[in-house]
Amino acid sequence: MAGSGDKFDIVVVGAGPVGLSFAASLAQSELKVAVVEQQSLERLADPVFDGREIALTNASIRILRELGAWDAIPASDKSQLEGARVLNGSSAFALCFDPPSASREPLGVLVPNCRIRDALFKIVRSQDHARLLCGLSVVDATNSHKGAVITLSDGRQLTARLLVAADSRLSATRDLLGIGADINRLGNSMLICRVRHERVHHQIAVEWFDHHQTIAMLPLMQGVSSLLLTLRSNEADRLLAFEDDLFLMELTNRCRGRLGEMTLASSRHAYPLVTTWAHKFWAPSAVLIGDAAIGMHPVTAHGFNIGLSAQRQLAHRILAAGRDRRDIADPDMLRKYESWLRRSAAPLYYATNILVRLYSGEHPAALLARHVGLRVAQHLPFVRQGISAMLRR
Ligand SMILES: Cc1cc2nc3c(=O)[nH]c(=O)nc-3n(C[C@H](O)[C@H](O)[C@H](O)COP(=O)(O)OP(=O)(O)OC[C@H]3O[C@@H](n4cnc5c(N)ncnc54)[C@H](O)[C@@H]3O)c2cc1C
Repeated sequence: MAGSGDKFDIVVVGAGPVGLSFAASLAQSELKVAVVEQQSLERLADPVFDGREIALTNASIRILRELGAWDAIPASDKSQLEGARVLNGSSAFALCFDPPSASREPLGVLVPNCRIRDALFKIVRSQDHARLLCGLSVVDATNSHKGAVITLSDGRQLTARLLVAADSRLSATRDLLGIGADINRLGNSMLICRVRHERVHHQIAVEWFDHHQTIAMLPLMQGVSSLLLTLRSNEADRLLAFEDDLFLMELTNRCRGRLGEMTLASSRHAYPLVTTWAHKFWAPSAVLIGDAAIGMHPVTAHGFNIGLSAQRQLAHRILAAGRDRRDIADPDMLRKYESWLRRSAAPLYYATNILVRLYSGEHPAALLARHVGLRVAQHLPFVRQGISAMLRR
């Protein structure tokens, strides 16, 4: 049975960057919110570097600024992205993406994931409306039109008018709610680390689709880039087990000297690649946000950007319902959130998946298609500008 201290208007499962931003977006309300997170409070208060450098769009920066998180991130952790180049195999041809010449804004800004989490955590912790329940996971959840009951790993039960699942792309809460998802395990992993290098990066990112591997080089501070190497998972595991000097030698060979001499500048991290799309984004008294709703392939760097704008949409609808004394779990409102998210995320999600298939295939038809595709895109300015605009949204 839930005690009176365990009754909430909203229970958010997952204090990742999307769950935290959603909780922070509700600060203007009188709603009683709980955020349940399996990691300890100490871990959340001091998140460790996880390799991810999140390319934030200008729209995301505006949302983080509204939440008070942008100014809480040190300037030294913000690296401007002034352009991007896409390369294919050993060809010298590059497809170029640059901000429009009239724009003074960069394509985006790279910020370590741990710094975004840190800033959002401090904001939520300082707010009175939200209670953080850390070191606990959700082991059961039931829902009906009347509300949701959430059972935690310590046996405690919480009740909520609305349960919000923000517990990653392999969301256990989504499963407990009986919502299925298309889960696509790609058999590849992304190996990530920072490198210090000889050549100047001019704040330009490089995405290089080579045979049996993809390398992305994201420009951070002067002389430092984040290197993302996508390989078959067994190959990635083999490299991850190498000693530092052997690992560096392997990286240097694979980059074929593009960055000049390199040294390792961080720990290494590996992410098995899985894309997900939930069959529904809501159920009675429950809703999905962030990766629990849509888990994008990282190659177009948009998972968090989409999750951030979607949580804002949902929070605005809930705040409006609260102000008008309407139900904050109104099915019609949740349905509208769902169709908004489908409409705004589907083009990028499916375009990204096609791009991944085209650029990771080794079939001669795929090799020819990518060779032709890059040249066609370069000569059709509306394609490049369309993609740039989509990436800058
Ligand atoms: C290599 C890589 C690079 C990326 N680069 C970019 C980029 O450049 N731009 C971009 O926009 N996006 C990028 N992304 C995507 C971005 O990282 C995700 O979209 C974002 O982290 C999703 O946030 P989230 O809060 O929904 O989920 P998560 O970050 O997965 O957080 C989920 C939280 O829920 C907690 N949790 C899980 N299960 C439970 C449970 N049962 N009970 C309680 N708590 C639970 C977890 O501990 C975690 O804290 C990248 C992703 C990867 C892997």
